[in-house]
Amino acid sequence: MLIASGGGWGGRIRTYGTRYQKPTPYHLATPQLRGFLPKRAGARKCKLPRHAVEERRFSVYCAAMENFDVVVLGAGAAGMMCAVEAARRGRRVLVLDHAAAPGEKIRISGGGRCNFTNLSAPPERFLSHNPRFAISPLRRFTPADFIARIDAAGIAWHEKTLGQLFCDGSARQIVTMLTGQMADAGAELRLNERIETISHEGAFRVETGNSAVMAGALVVATGGKSIPKMGATGLAYRIAGQFGVPVTETRPALVPLTFAEQDLAALRPLAGLSVHARVSHGKTTFEEGLLFTHRGLSGPSILQISSYWREGDGLTVDLSPAEDIAAALRETRASAGRAALSTVLARHLPERLAQMVVARAGADGRLADQTNAALDRLAEAVHRWRVVPVGSEGYRTAEVTLGGIDTDALDARTMAVKTRPGLYFVGEAVDVTGWLGGYNFQWAWSSGWAAGQVA
Ligand SMILES: Cc1cc2nc3c(=O)[nH]c(=O)nc-3n(C[C@H](O)[C@H](O)[C@H](O)COP(=O)(O)OP(=O)(O)OC[C@H]3O[C@@H](n4cnc5c(N)ncnc54)[C@H](O)[C@@H]3O)c2cc1C
Repeated sequence: MLIASGGGWGGRIRTYGTRYQKPTPYHLATPQLRGFLPKRAGARKCKLPRHAVEERRFSVYCAAMENFDVVVLGAGAAGMMCAVEAARRGRRVLVLDHAAAPGEKIRISGGGRCNFTNLSAPPERFLSHNPRFAISPLRRFTPADFIARIDAAGIAWHEKTLGQLFCDGSARQIVTMLTGQMADAGAELRLNERIETISHEGAFRVETGNSAVMAGALVVATGGKSIPKMGATGLAYRIAGQFGVPVTETRPALVPLTFAEQDLAALRPLAGLSVHARVSHGKTTFEEGLLFTHRGLSGPSILQISSYWREGDGLTVDLSPAEDIAAALRETRASAGRAALSTVLARHLPERLAQMVVARAGADGRLADQTNAALDRLAEAVHRWRVVPVGSEGYRTAEVTLGGIDTDALDARTMAVKTRPGLYFVGEAVDVTGWLGGYNFQWAWSSGWAAGQVA
């Protein structure tokens, strides 16, 4: 059965079912296939029917190919964790990645220090079409379990804020720990391997530009679409399509939001400025840093809310959540009424922001000249700033991909595809997306670990 053409990833995906299929012409075959396909011109005459000859050559080719118990696609956080676990069980494991180095996202994450987990990872901090799906993997391999591995590897760490754990030194230590554990357990890592075709006939067959391998289990750990420059390709969704596994809508998440040009005119002078803010979308609220950018808003509170925001939605921003600005202004009016409004507000907000808020509220002049209603309006402009982003910076800067492999198709205990024995999806590729704060790596560790126990 010919399933799909590889679309944008430059390869053909074929599944060999039980029925005879039209053979690949010699001139279209990969170098590996050419080894068992006859050349048209000058091909030796044979009494057997052509398809029987090719099937025989194909089985010879398979026998000559390298065989593994498990092939893991993707040497990121989830793939390496899965490989370590499977290899520790004595499975013969091969990890393939098209990048020149493993764990590139680990290396650059957390400003080079990797926010590798959070002290607690309750399921409500993960978004998914099925919010209960993540419970089992997260309970079976917890933040404490990963911390124990970090400690055993002698990697020093600290809590920065809100339970977020970072390396004291470098994120590279975590990559080194994982590659070391893979090597110790006997898992093989091959880099610069472009996945070209995947097919299934009893076992999975993976062809790369360099080789072809077979395995009874295929673990897809190729992440999502975020940051193509870092090697993201969305391959997992195409493999899902090939094997009939449903994929929920995907979109960039943990991403800066952008504004229309007319709104940016007032905001651009604030670019680079950051405040502590409370950002709300409906009932969902995050209180963390907010950063003004040349294109709109960023910072942790905005990245967090971006996972909930949809085009056309508005957000409410409280620029001074810890203070009652109306009460503070009234108090100051009684003691220092001659001060200019923006000067007084600048005691509570960065000066440039205070000026922008005063201008936006249409207020002006000395504090003493303001009525209570005018001060309330100004306070409202601080506490309930309504913004309507027009978009996001997209996958170019998004930390993660929201949506992905539909969890209804997977067994939460093993990450296996229910309808396709031997096929697994783990990590960011799956429709489980954590908040900012170490939750996405914890999901990668937990889901990779779960698959590694059975694959
Ligand atoms: C800038 C940035 C900072 C981040 N910081 C944090 C943080 O501090 N804490 C946190 O919890 N999360 C963070 N994240 C999110 C986190 O990096 C991801 O959730 C996590 O890496 C997902 O792990 P994964 O193994 O599923 O996928 P990935 O880490 O993306 O690994 C996928 C692997 O598959 C390979 N691959 C992809 N396509 C192909 C292909 N076609 N052929 C072969 N190989 C392929 C890639 O090269 C890569 O090695 C950050 C993300 C970014 C972009």
